[in-house]
Amino acid sequence: MNLVETLRDFMLTPAPSGYESEMAYKLADRLKPLCDDVQIDHVGNVIGKIAGTGSGLPTAMVFAHIDQLGFIVRRVEADGYLQVDRLGGIPEKVLPALKLSVRSEDGTWHTGVFGPKAHHATPAEEKYKVDLVTSLFIDIGAKNAQEVHELGIYPGCPVIYQPQFELLRNHKVTGTSVDNRGACAALVAVAENLHANRPACDVYVVGTVWEEFNLRGAMMAARTVKPDLAIMLDVTLASDTHDLASRFEDALGAGPCVQLYSFHGRGTLNGTLPHQPLFGLCKRTAQEEQIPLQRFAALGIITDAAYLQLEGEGVAVLEMGFPARYTHTPVEVCDLRDLESLSNLVAGMMRRIDGEFQLNRY
Ligand SMILES: [Zn+2]
Repeated sequence: MNLVETLRDFMLTPAPSGYESEMAYKLADRLKPLCDDVQIDHVGNVIGKIAGTGSGLPTAMVFAHIDQLGFIVRRVEADGYLQVDRLGGIPEKVLPALKLSVRSEDGTWHTGVFGPKAHHATPAEEKYKVDLVTSLFIDIGAKNAQEVHELGIYPGCPVIYQPQFELLRNHKVTGTSVDNRGACAALVAVAENLHANRPACDVYVVGTVWEEFNLRGAMMAARTVKPDLAIMLDVTLASDTHDLASRFEDALGAGPCVQLYSFHGRGTLNGTLPHQPLFGLCKRTAQEEQIPLQRFAALGIITDAAYLQLEGEGVAVLEMGFPARYTHTPVEVCDLRDLESLSNLVAGMMRRIDGEFQLNRY
C-alpha cells in the first residue's frame, strides 16, 4: 500500500477519542512487518519497536495521535432525535446540514444528519447566527426513542463526521481526519524507511489515543517506552488561504513543518517549547537531505507533546508536522508531498542520533 492508499484507508476508519480500537488494530497490522515488536497498551496506544544497531544510545519515540474529534450523545428524545455534546474542538459554524456517523454500543455505525431549520421558514435574524452544538438535533430517521435504543444507541455513544476522502488537484487530499491520519500515514512511512535502513538508536513508532479529548493518552505510552527524546507529528495551520494569509508563513506543498511554539492560552497552562538540540538535528537533517523545512509558531494550539514531555525525568520533545487547511472541519486539506517529505526528514533525524548527540539542553 502506498502513502495515498494508506491515507485513504486511515481517513475512512472511524476512531473518535476513547473508541480508537479499529484504527489501533489497523495501524498495528501495518507496523507488524516493519517492527521487531508491536503491542497495544491498556488504553489503546499502539507501540512498535524498531531496534537500533547500536548500544548505549538514547531511546527515541516518534508519535502521532490516532483519534479524532466528534460528539457524544447526551439525550435521546422521545421522538427519536439525538442531542449531543462536543468531544474535542468542534467548529460550531460548520455543523448544520452535516452528515454524521453514530456509533451504537455494539460498535455498529449509523448514518445521521444535523438537521438545520428549513430555510424557507428561517427568519432573517436567524440566518446569520451560529447555532450552539447543544441546540442541534441529529436525525437518524428513527420513529421514536425505542427504535433508537433497539439500535443500541444511548447517552454516551460517540458520533463523528461521516468519514470521507477525496483527491484534489496537485497532490492534495480533502476529507475528514486529515488531522491526524496524515501523520499516521507519515508514521507508517517512517517505519518503512527505518526498517529498510536501520538507525543506531532504538526507535519506537507510536500511535496515541485521546489527543482530541484530553491530550494525555501519550503519557501512558511514554510510561511503557520510557523515551529520552520524542518527535510528535500533527498538523500545523496552513497560511495559504485568504483568511490566514497574513497570520503564519507555512503553505501546502512547501515541505514539512517544525513547530517552535505552541501554547493553549485558553485555560490550560501548557504548551511546548522546542528542545534546542532536537531542533538543531532537524535543521541539519533538512539541510543535508535537501528537504525544505517550514517554521511554525502559534498561540492557541496544544498537542499531546505538552504532556508527554513531563513524563519520567523529562522527555526532550520536538513538535513536527505538515500544514493543513480548514482544520477540525470535515473538509480538511493537506498535500501528500508534505507527508512524504516529513517522513523522510524524521527518519533522517533518527539515523543521525549517535554517541555524539547532545541530549541535555545546555
Ligand atoms: Zn491533531
